[in-house]
Amino acid sequence: MATDLGKVAKDRGIRYFLISFTDLFGVQRSKLVPASAIAGMQKTGAGFAGFATHLDMTPAYPDLFAVPDPDSLIQLPWKPEVAWVASDLVMDGAPVEQAPRVVLKNAVKAAADAGYRMKSGVEAEFFLITPDGEAISDPADLQAKPCYDQSALMRRYEVVTTICDAMESLGWGPYQNDHEDANGQFEMNWDYGDCLETADRHTFFKIMTKAIAENHGLRATFMPKPFLHLTGNGCHCHASLWDKTGKKCLFDGDDEHGMSPLAYNFLGGVLHSAEALCALFNPTVNSYKRINAPRTTSGATWAPNTVTYGGNNRTHMVRIPDAGRFEFRLMDGAANPYLLQAGVLAAGLEGITNQRDPGKRLDIDMYAEGHKARGAKKLPLNMLDAVRKLDRSRELNEAFGRENVQSYVKLKMIEWNNFCQHLTQWERDQTLDC
Ligand SMILES: [Mg+2]
Repeated sequence: MATDLGKVAKDRGIRYFLISFTDLFGVQRSKLVPASAIAGMQKTGAGFAGFATHLDMTPAYPDLFAVPDPDSLIQLPWKPEVAWVASDLVMDGAPVEQAPRVVLKNAVKAAADAGYRMKSGVEAEFFLITPDGEAISDPADLQAKPCYDQSALMRRYEVVTTICDAMESLGWGPYQNDHEDANGQFEMNWDYGDCLETADRHTFFKIMTKAIAENHGLRATFMPKPFLHLTGNGCHCHASLWDKTGKKCLFDGDDEHGMSPLAYNFLGGVLHSAEALCALFNPTVNSYKRINAPRTTSGATWAPNTVTYGGNNRTHMVRIPDAGRFEFRLMDGAANPYLLQAGVLAAGLEGITNQRDPGKRLDIDMYAEGHKARGAKKLPLNMLDAVRKLDRSRELNEAFGRENVQSYVKLKMIEWNNFCQHLTQWERDQTLDC
């Protein structure tokens, strides 16, 4: 029997539930429901007008219901009288197929039907900036190579440890926190888990980090490239595949990287669909200022520019850091946590089904010697190119359903057109005297 949220509220002193869902643009939508009303909401869901969110609906659509998934419940560590709960969207009694959490659940089911489950972890980098968004929050954080800077990390001790303690209390298994490669940038790591659990936790991590930063008079941003001269916010994803008996399917002790033939097929699938996946992994106009970027003041962008893989080499799109596990380095801080996981899983499964060959690994420094890599596919240079690739991707259309992909493509094309309506100073400078 499903967990009774009314009883959970009584047992844990919860006064309010944030019944929440993530829309196609990664925006978190919620209703704050008093514990006295949760029993009914658990049955029918909380009502929303779909048109008011990014889900490709019109005002004529009937009510959208967010039905809470009790397994996802997280009591806010900084406000324990409130509990966040992820929901699955339903309309007219049927799942809303384009809703990101439903998309991921369908991908998980397709994997299970094929005998696999994906476990994953994410490295959701973020900046701590001033509340007005104009600058990094620590004026003393000036090192040219600021990665792992002890002093800058310790000047943000209160914020970082409040978030880390919260993850500890939630049982996520946090294990390290550091100052990252850009001034003002941090990363906090917690244990990997089933990909749906990781997507829920990734979603909540962003909520929590922003809220706790705000409580300390700061602002946290996961924006892919908030400062042009600094390294951007990546969201690398580590993934492994397991079978029903708990065996690691990507591991093979005899291989030079400890990877099985199945692992190379999985990788082959992700590389094959990489350009289209950019529309999900790098979903904003700003995302393309992180990938394909010129060198930053720290010396490297740490973001990929080609569809290549190497061994333990951070200049490629995919790194093999350890036997039986891939690190996908393409994703950025704007990636929708559910579509991120769904994209890796669906593309990887397609690779297994079609026994895709990822080609040979490259051992070169792609930043310095990329021009020597003949035939390496380049990543899309902007959001429009990526969205067009997704639109035409036979593999992802098959995996996610043509209508669902079209919903996403349609909304992203509207966003691109909105962007194009802005007149920039650069255009004026370049064109006034034409
Ligand atoms: Mg990092």
